[in-house]
Amino acid sequence: MINSASDLINFASVLNNIVCSVVGCLFLYKIRSGLTGYQRRSASYFLLFFLLFGLAFSAMAIRTWLPLSYSVLLNNILYMSVAYLLLFGALSWYKKPINRWLWKLAVIHVFLYTAIQNYVYHYWPDTLQLRVQFAFFNFVFVYLATYLVCNKHRATNGRGERMLALSAIVCMVAACFPTLALAISDRADYYRVAVVITQNIVCFFLLGSLLSLFLFNQIDWHYERSIRDELTGLYNRRYINDCISQSLAKQRAKGFIAVIDIDHFKKVNDLFGHDVGDNTLIAVSNILASFIGPNDLIGRYGGEEFVIFLSQSDSDSVELLLEGMRQSVEIKSSSVLPSPVTISVGYCVVEIGDTLPSLFSKADSALYMAKRNGRNCIVKKESVR
Ligand code: GH3
Ligand code: MG
Ligand code: MG
Repeated sequence: MINSASDLINFASVLNNIVCSVVGCLFLYKIRSGLTGYQRRSASYFLLFFLLFGLAFSAMAIRTWLPLSYSVLLNNILYMSVAYLLLFGALSWYKKPINRWLWKLAVIHVFLYTAIQNYVYHYWPDTLQLRVQFAFFNFVFVYLATYLVCNKHRATNGRGERMLALSAIVCMVAACFPTLALAISDRADYYRVAVVITQNIVCFFLLGSLLSLFLFNQIDWHYERSIRDELTGLYNRRYINDCISQSLAKQRAKGFIAVIDIDHFKKVNDLFGHDVGDNTLIAVSNILASFIGPNDLIGRYGGEEFVIFLSQSDSDSVELLLEGMRQSVEIKSSSVLPSPVTISVGYCVVEIGDTLPSLFSKADSALYMAKRNGRNCIVKKESVR
């Protein structure tokens, strides 16, 4: 029954959390069908998370019709299970198996926690502060484990994983609000407001972060595919063009651009077949990429042609690096590939006023000279200014 403003706020909060849980369930149910492997398992745990979360709030909504002890029992089981489902979802996301001892730990913890809470509630009903503190420590234990799982992979975490780690911290902070409210004042209103705030923060934050975990992952996956060449894994023509154009637009572009072409590559295909041709492209791209520094860029421009954008400003070191690449392809390909290959390289310096077409035209004409000089060599296009 709603008898006061505080009851109304409680009702609104319960309704809010049920709606949030339904949205979470629907979203995860939809996205789950398009996923496989560890991501699908993770989505299943998170789906269950929102299902039980919604159930816990539905149980609260019908509190007036249930004996209070049942409602306390149900809510304790559901809230603690929900915390473990979040942990299991995070572990699955990082491809960690949920082994038997972890399941046992979760089940024992959930039942022990619920039993203690109910025992204390039954025999010492006036010890609210003690029960709230006990709940706080137990929830923090599980949320901290979730945070540590995310934090362990912080080096490779994307935007979605960082949001999940942040939510685990927020859940820990929010879990202390009811304890704080009881420590500040013994007014029942304060405590009820603190509980409502905690529930809403946990629900909204987790809804947002779990959705963004999947969305950011999809966005990043599609973006990565859109900038990479499928065969070699190097950047593709569009990405290379965009990067060079952006660099030129800054008006302080400096460095070198080199165009690299495999010599007589058609013969490899004709004599050994397309598969050997493909493997040759992969092997050459790996050799070239091994010379590339963190500030440089390499991409497959098309066919058997590669482009390198070097940030160095010293012409001698660039010549040395390209010579290293040429020799490495010649030596390694003769030991690894059924049909050894060599490369020809044309390069030029990036000058103020250069455009993408003018740069490529300079590097291409140097490459043309390299081919005419007998291939397997490097030619620099000298500046005419
Ligand atoms: P040059 O020394 O003058 O560069 O001679 P070339 O034979 O390397 O050059 P050409 O342009 O005549 O032939 C390039 C060949 O590259 C033709 C094409 O079949 C092959 N090719 C292009 N893309 C791929 C690919 O993705 N895989 C394979 N296996 N071959 C490819
Ligand atoms: Mg070629
Ligand atoms: Mg070519």
